[in-house]
Order: sequence, then C-alpha cells, then structure tokens
Amino acid sequence: MTRGGRVMPDYVIEQPKVPAIPVAGTEALFPVRRVYCIGRNYAAHAIEMGHDPDREPPFFFQKNPDGLDPSGIFPYPVRSEDVHHEIEMAVALKSGGRSIPVGAALGHVFGYAVALDMTRRDLQGEAKAMGRPWEIGKAFERSAPIGPLRTAADIGHPSAGRVALRVNGELRQEGDLNQMIWKVPEMIAYLSDYFELAAGDVILSGTPAGVGPVRRGDRMEGSVEGVGELVVTVR
Ligand code: MN
Repeated sequence: MTRGGRVMPDYVIEQPKVPAIPVAGTEALFPVRRVYCIGRNYAAHAIEMGHDPDREPPFFFQKNPDGLDPSGIFPYPVRSEDVHHEIEMAVALKSGGRSIPVGAALGHVFGYAVALDMTRRDLQGEAKAMGRPWEIGKAFERSAPIGPLRTAADIGHPSAGRVALRVNGELRQEGDLNQMIWKVPEMIAYLSDYFELAAGDVILSGTPAGVGPVRRGDRMEGSVEGVGELVVTVR
C-alpha cells in the first residue's frame, strides 16, 4: 500500500495512534516515544514518603506513552481507592543518544510542560511492600495529564521557579525547581547511560512535597513558574 508516495507496511491490525502532546501556540503535535519518570527527586517529598533524602543514585520507572493525556479530564481509575496527585515538570527531547555528557544534555531538550504523575498509591504501596514493580500503581490509562509543551527556544531551560498544585482552590503541593536533587541535565545524562534516548522521549522530573488523594469532581490546578499551568478535572 502507498500513502503520499511512500510505501506503507501492511499491518495486520489497525495501526495504534501515535501518542502526542500539543505544542503551545501552534497546531503541531509532539509525538511521544517513551516516558521516563524519576522517583523521590525533591528531599521534602522523599521524607514524606518515609525515605532518607540523601543523594543516592536516582531511580526511574516508566509510564506508557499513551498514558499522557492533554484532555484536561482525569477519569478516576479502576481498582483503587487512594489515587494521588503528583505535580511535575515534563521535559520533552528532540534528540537523544547514549552516554550524553551533563554539559551537552540541555541541547537535546525540545521543551517543557506541566504534568501530573497520577498514582494509585494503594496499589503502589502493595507493590513496594512485596518487592514488585510499580506499573500497576503508575502506568494505568490516562495516568499522566499534561499541558501544552513550551519550546526551549521560547522559554529557555527553567532551573528555578515555583511548582504548585491546588485542589479545589486549596494549596496542596508547593516547591521550587531549584530543589530538585537531580537536575534536568543530570537526569538526561544518567538515563542515557542505561537507555538509548531519542527524539520523542519525555521525562517527568519528580514531585515536591504535599502529595495526596483526589476525589471524583475535584479540580486540580497545577503550575510551574516559567512553563505554564494545567487544569484537570477528576471524573
Ligand atoms: Mn512522580
């Protein structure tokens, strides 16, 4: 089969949609390849989760690319009674590679967005207690609401600025990008020592203290200074 003059492969089922994030101020979309998320990247959040915030090597888990959701609606997921918000800055890569030096890392960044790492905390807690992987708590459908990407060409590379989340107008989470234990260039460099990074990869950079549960009907208003805002309703 040909489309637009290109020979297209003959898939045996309909090709799944490419997950994508809107780019602010344009009609264009950023296609997503992989989603990496760092754990415990703000000391105050590590403490609230019962961990020592000393600078241990970073650790990452992954969400599914099709879990990124720009719709502004978060359907309360099944099989959980304790779904938590985690406000985070998302970093989108326009290129990648292996063993990227810290000093070259920001050259691979396309842009930034405000995102939520929604978490089935009860299921994550059971997984942790049993030494099992975290996907059941982290990688469910529509688990990462995300706002439009702002390009680095437009806003630069934010390394300081307030990160906050309000639920129904009440301030729940607050921190500053400058409190990240592992900075964005360090995260990119570290990940690239273990994975080959590429254009389309998205990194969620961790959440400040104050994570907590949401209920159906809640309105979450997240913000990252210099990046933007994200409003999401829980359905
Ligand atoms: Mn998180």
